[in-house]
Formats: sequence, structure tokens, C-alpha cells
Amino acid sequence: MATPATGIAPPVIIVGAGPSGLAASACLARRGVASLVLERDDCVGSLWRKRAYDRLHLHLPKQISALPHAPHADDAPDYLPRDHFVRYLDAYADRFDVRTRLRREVRAARFVDGRWEVEAVDLGTGEAERHAAKFLVVATGEFDERVLPEVPGLDTFTGEAMHSRDYASAEGMRGKAVLVVGCGNSGMEIALDLAEGGAATSIVVRGELHLMTREIMSASTALFAYLPVWMIDKLALLACFLVFGDTAKHGLPRPALGPFARKLLINAYPVIDVGTYSKVKSGQIQVLPAMTSIDGDMVEFADGRRQRFDAIVFATGYRSTAKKWLKSHGDGLIGDNGMAAGRSPKGNNGLYRAGLAGRGIYGSFTDAQFIAEDISMQLQGSGESGNDTGNVG
Ligand SMILES: Cc1cc2nc3c(=O)[nH]c(=O)nc-3n(C[C@H](O)[C@H](O)[C@H](O)COP(=O)(O)OP(=O)(O)OC[C@H]3O[C@@H](n4cnc5c(N)ncnc54)[C@H](O)[C@@H]3O)c2cc1C
Repeated sequence: MATPATGIAPPVIIVGAGPSGLAASACLARRGVASLVLERDDCVGSLWRKRAYDRLHLHLPKQISALPHAPHADDAPDYLPRDHFVRYLDAYADRFDVRTRLRREVRAARFVDGRWEVEAVDLGTGEAERHAAKFLVVATGEFDERVLPEVPGLDTFTGEAMHSRDYASAEGMRGKAVLVVGCGNSGMEIALDLAEGGAATSIVVRGELHLMTREIMSASTALFAYLPVWMIDKLALLACFLVFGDTAKHGLPRPALGPFARKLLINAYPVIDVGTYSKVKSGQIQVLPAMTSIDGDMVEFADGRRQRFDAIVFATGYRSTAKKWLKSHGDGLIGDNGMAAGRSPKGNNGLYRAGLAGRGIYGSFTDAQFIAEDISMQLQGSGESGNDTGNVG
């Protein structure tokens, strides 16, 4: 496990001990700069350990899913299972001696008199803590808070309702009628999990989506260094047509904009099919339009259909909460939605963001390297040591 913090304050505070925070701390340590990571949960990598379904595998190959200075082993699976990645994060925190204070929820951070003052609460004792540092790294993730749709009558639903982050497996769902709302990566894979687990599964598909295989995704990603996005989109769509045929025939229409142009322009991820589509085609998973209302156990849909359900899984996304606690942000480093604004992860007054730009683990990797290099250069330039500089307030 990560080392508990001592009472000494390093020059960098990192908020969040997910892949981005761990990578930033490790890269700083490699440059001789100490950091303190404040994490709300009682472990590192909590999204992967506690807030993801059991069967989850990384969507991208291991070569582009590693953190700095720690490539995945040659004999590791190409697409790492969730548990494997959790063990990797634990080992990473140990190896780079990431200094973490767990169960510390950051409630406010302000730039005052040339330094960052951070207020946290020890969730174990309820006591308030104050920390101060020259540099602050926001690494609280894009997927922090559940987003639920506003559906009239949702509060009357008599079955079991949960968000996808609370869904672990299909245990207990055999024979039940389960509705999955949302057709992103989580929704599509949870629907598959439920169908394989013996639930009578339906999925709400409100809009359009680009269904893709891992292999097409991975090959397309490799082409980014050589071809323009429009050409990669054309090749990817051709490959998708050969694999899936016309997905619209089965209720999964594709957007007019290509998959990677869409990712770049509106940060919409293609959906990686891990077996859901064949169950949709065979009718084992029913595709339904948007929900319009709920009344008891009865759900009504946009085409007027009414159907009874025992459970609903809302795979309706997440939001970043960075803007709730970051009280000084100055120059628009982080937008109103808590996500990256602008290209650089560096803001004013020693503020950085790590991993909020919709680039997954690869983004954690590149942001951490940039942040560590930039901070160590500033410390060297000012003649300051990167080591511990004073007591915690
Ligand atoms: C189901 C699912 C599957 C995914 N699959 C992939 C994939 O295959 N490949 C990929 O590249 N990406 C994937 N992602 C995206 C993934 O979230 C990121 O790549 C990765 O976890 C980002 O790391 P992070 O450290 O930026 O954020 P997170 O992992 O979310 O870590 C943020 C940390 O900050 C902590 N925190 C939040 N607020 C506070 C606060 N106020 N005070 C203290 N601590 C706080 C949280 O507890 C959390 O531990 C997936 C996401 C989800 C939800």
C-alpha cells in the first residue's frame, strides 16, 4: 500500500489518487520532487477497484494503457482485466513510494498570498485539515459523480434502481426483467453481462453511436501518427461495416460524423463491442427508445410502448466535481463542467490539471510527464529544493 503521509509538507499537493494522481506523483519523485496526494477514498485507484463492474477490461491495448516508467509485463494480457489493473496501480504506488493521505476529501482550494491553501476533511474522524503548497495538481477525474436522467415518476419505481458505478455483476438478476438506460461502453457491456447472466434484458438507445471492435479501435489509434482523422474515420467505418453490417437495422444508428472526428470534436467515445451486438441481433437484448415516464414497475417509452421491469441500471454517465472545490482557477484551465479547457494542463499560479481532457490513461501518462518536468524546472530555476519544505498548517 502507499506510504502514509508524515507531518511534513512537500511543495506539491495532488488531489486524487487515481491513475493521473499516482502518475504525477511518481514522475515528480523521479525528478526528486516530493508530493502529497490527498484521496477521498480508503485506497488508491478507487474507480477501478470499487466503481467498475466485475467483467470490465481495459478498452485499449496494454501498450497505451500504462503509466510512466512502468510498462505492463510482456506476459500480461493485451487487454487488462480490471483486477489486474488494480494490482498494477497498487504496485505502482508502492514502487514510486507515493505519499498518500487516504480518506481525505478536499472541500476547498484557494490561491492565497503566493501559495495554494487546501482544506480537507478526514472522513474517518470528521476533523478538518489544512495543507499548503506552492503547486496544486487537480487529479480528481472525469467520472466522479453519478449523472441520472430526469424521468417523470422515477421516484415511484418499485423495483431496484442503480447507477452503473454501483453495478458489479448479474448475480441475483436471473429471470428478472432488467432495463439498462444508456448505450455507452458501460451500458452496452452491462446489458451483455445481464443477458449472459439470464436476465430478460432491454437497453434504451436514445441517440446514435459508433460501434467498433477493440481491434479496429487499436489499429485506428496506431494510424494517428500517419494519417489525417478523416481518412482514419473512413477506414474504420469500412472495417466496421465489414464486421457489423448496417447496425441501424437493429436500432443502433451511426452518427454522420466519423468516430474519431466525433471523439476529437465532442469527446464522444466510440462504443467497443464485446459481444452485445450479436445478442441485439438475435433478439436476446431488446433495444428500446427513450423513456418518457415511470409509474410503479411500469416504464413508458417514446414510441408509446409500456413495459414492466424489476430493475433499472442507469448507465447515464458521470460528471467531474473539480469545480465544486477549486475556488481559485483564474485562467480557465478547467471549464464550468469540471473538464479540461484549453490544451495545456498548466494554469496560472502553480495550478495544473491531470487527466481531465478525455484522453483516458494515455492522458494520465502525458499530463504527468509534462507536470513533473514543468514543476521541477520551476523549482530548479528558483533555486528551491524539491523536497519537503515546511510543516502542515
Ligand atoms: C467504467 C469505466 C471504464 C473505463 N475504461 C477505460 C479504459 O479502458 N481505458 C482508459 O484509458 N480509460 C478508461 N476509463 C476512463 C478512466 O476513468 C480513466 O482513464 C482513469 O481512471 C482516469 O484516472 P484519473 O486519475 O484521472 O481519475 P479517477 O480514476 O477517477 O481518479 C480520481 C480520484 O480522485 C478522487 N477524488 C475525487 N474528488 C476528490 C476530492 N474532492 N478529494 C479527494 N479525492 C477526490 C477519487 O476518489 C478518485 O480516486 C474508464 C472509465 C470508466 C468509468
